[in-house]
Amino acid sequence: MALITATIPFEELDFFNFSELLSEEEIMVRDQVRAFVDERIMPGVAAHWEAGTFPNEIIPELGEMGLLGVTIDPKYGGAGMNSVAYGLICAEIERADSGIRSFTSVQSSLVMYPIQTFGSEEQKQKWLPELASGRQIGCFGLTEPDFGSDPGGMRTRARRDGEDWILHGQKMWITNGTVADVSIVWARDENNKVQGFLVEKDREGFSAPEQKHKWSLRCSVTSELVCDEVRVPEANRMPGVEGLKSALSCLTQARYGIAWGALGAAQACFDEARRYTLDRQIFDRPLAGYQLTQKKLAEMATEITKGQLLCWKLGRMKDAGTMKPQHVSMAKRNNVAMALDVARECRSLLGANGITLEFQSGRHACNLETVITYEGTHEIHTLVLGEALTGIPAYR
Ligand SMILES: Cc1cc2nc3c(=O)[nH]c(=O)nc-3n(C[C@H](O)[C@H](O)[C@H](O)COP(=O)(O)OP(=O)(O)OC[C@H]3O[C@@H](n4cnc5c(N)ncnc54)[C@H](O)[C@@H]3O)c2cc1C
Repeated sequence: MALITATIPFEELDFFNFSELLSEEEIMVRDQVRAFVDERIMPGVAAHWEAGTFPNEIIPELGEMGLLGVTIDPKYGGAGMNSVAYGLICAEIERADSGIRSFTSVQSSLVMYPIQTFGSEEQKQKWLPELASGRQIGCFGLTEPDFGSDPGGMRTRARRDGEDWILHGQKMWITNGTVADVSIVWARDENNKVQGFLVEKDREGFSAPEQKHKWSLRCSVTSELVCDEVRVPEANRMPGVEGLKSALSCLTQARYGIAWGALGAAQACFDEARRYTLDRQIFDRPLAGYQLTQKKLAEMATEITKGQLLCWKLGRMKDAGTMKPQHVSMAKRNNVAMALDVARECRSLLGANGITLEFQSGRHACNLETVITYEGTHEIHTLVLGEALTGIPAYR
């Protein structure tokens, strides 16, 4: 029997009339993406998750709709939308699956953003239109086997050799690595400065084996990047990079989208559980009619609503230029933990059905275990907030 995600009509939770805070254009973008997700992603997403495959057929469509490089300058093929529109798009895509949202986050925030911000004009013209259309795929290689939360410890090295650079080292847990045409590889040079390089997939000595056997983010490709004395020309180094802080600034962009995306996952689970508990008869009454269930629904709806308002304010601050990394940390930390709690609660409300892929909550809960780990773990964002609140760094 073909595995089909239950086609539950989407009943949006909008308790505080969140839409009122959005412009007409933002609502239009959100609704268009919602329709695309319902029609083109939802029906097959559980089967892809079970098979551990990404729905490659949607990549050109993501490009055509402007969903790759949403905030990138239109002169390089981007959609030039504002940050709130970008956030709404992340939420709509993650309503289907965190792995598919991860694909778009990496392409937009971790590949196109650094090329636009730190790349040469030649690099921008060469890569950005191709990445925006989905004809080319990119990945972002920062994490190493021994350095995740502390990327400053990286061992990957870049050594000058005439007009070229020689890259040597290993990256791990890299989204899109195996399928990427271009990898952004972060490495320390002989002066200990972190540099960012654009490494094409066919460079000699470069390989990107896929990491298998994941029970989380199964729709997303995750890979090692191996650089074995890979030679790249100086033209492949991003000239605007100013050390590790440049790599970290890309993460701020991606985390912003994740804070919004988690709302989509939470909302999908909530809508599913609300409908299910209204339908499900237990001891001759709907499950939704029990006080214990209503407490769960009330708490989840409240937390999702608070998360929406937090993201809206964050987005407006980002567009006004007043958003700081600690604001993103608060939103990412709160919304992802909230979404994970919601997904687990909804899974339990579905009883045994909740452990099947015919319902979404269990799949979202598994995915969110990655989302709470990558782009700064929950604990690292706690420490970022702790430092912002006290002035005392407590990382080490
Ligand atoms: C599916 C997936 C996709 C990913 N995609 C990418 C990608 O595209 N590019 C990329 O570069 N990376 C990617 N990552 C890597 C991700 O960013 C790292 O896994 C993350 O930064 C955590 O690093 P780590 O796994 O090494 O855990 P560690 O750093 O070893 O942390 C282990 C535990 O220690 C805790 N901890 C760490 N420091 C402290 C401290 N000071 N005090 C208290 N507790 C602490 C952490 O919170 C965590 O609970 C991905 C990861 C996954 C799972």
